[in-house]
Amino acid sequence: MSAAAPTPRVSWVDALCATAATWAWADVLLGRAPGWPEAALGALWLGGLVLASTTLAARGYVRAVTRGPSARPRVALSFDDGPDPATTQAVLDTLAAHGARATFFVLGAKVDAHPALARRIRDGGCELGVHGYEHSWRAWATPGRARASLERAQASLERAAGVRPRLVRPPYGISTPALRSAVRATAVTVVGWSIRTFDSLGRGDPLERARAVVARARPGDIVLLHDAPRTAGGRPPLGPAMLEALLTGLAAKGLTAVSVSELWGR
Ligand SMILES: [Zn+2]
Repeated sequence: MSAAAPTPRVSWVDALCATAATWAWADVLLGRAPGWPEAALGALWLGGLVLASTTLAARGYVRAVTRGPSARPRVALSFDDGPDPATTQAVLDTLAAHGARATFFVLGAKVDAHPALARRIRDGGCELGVHGYEHSWRAWATPGRARASLERAQASLERAAGVRPRLVRPPYGISTPALRSAVRATAVTVVGWSIRTFDSLGRGDPLERARAVVARARPGDIVLLHDAPRTAGGRPPLGPAMLEALLTGLAAKGLTAVSVSELWGR
């Protein structure tokens, strides 16, 4: 994947932190009273930290892929939070009925509970990526925990479906120094999105929501969807009715739905 340039050891957010720290030390050493430059730098620093940790496209900690090449009329569909015996099969059936493919970012714990579903995703021509072992930002809070969550989920998929996924989407799209460390250690590619559908809220008119996504979709987009609730028994995402309308709308716009790796020509 050509956008998957190795995640660097330092990035713009590190430079911003170093600048703020140096400035603060200079104030202390020179006995300068804080004034508007400190207020401005402080606001910039805080804003930078928030942007870097909540927006994968900002590439604050990792070189995430958030869209693909636009030369061909294709968009990638991506489904998070599964697999779930109550909801995933219907998503797979809808994709198959349209000859469409997608990437599923699955949770290792759910794969361990439902290994046959992981195999069905693979057998349907779709791609498997990992979303961590459990849906918890705490699992990504330290480098050791982040790496363990990632590798445990990879091992679950290897056992269930015989594939070792190289694509990762952290829960909530949260990016941290710990994620960077785990990504560098395991040489995986972090995948974000360019269009968010908010289907996981499970509220609203699925057809209306699908229409809004189709209206925004351009070649190279990566669409964030969910094939399951975050935790078993939770409110289900908008599901097959929205997906059906989405696939029909994309086709009418001349856009083919593929997996993330296919979008990148793999
Ligand atoms: Zn999720």
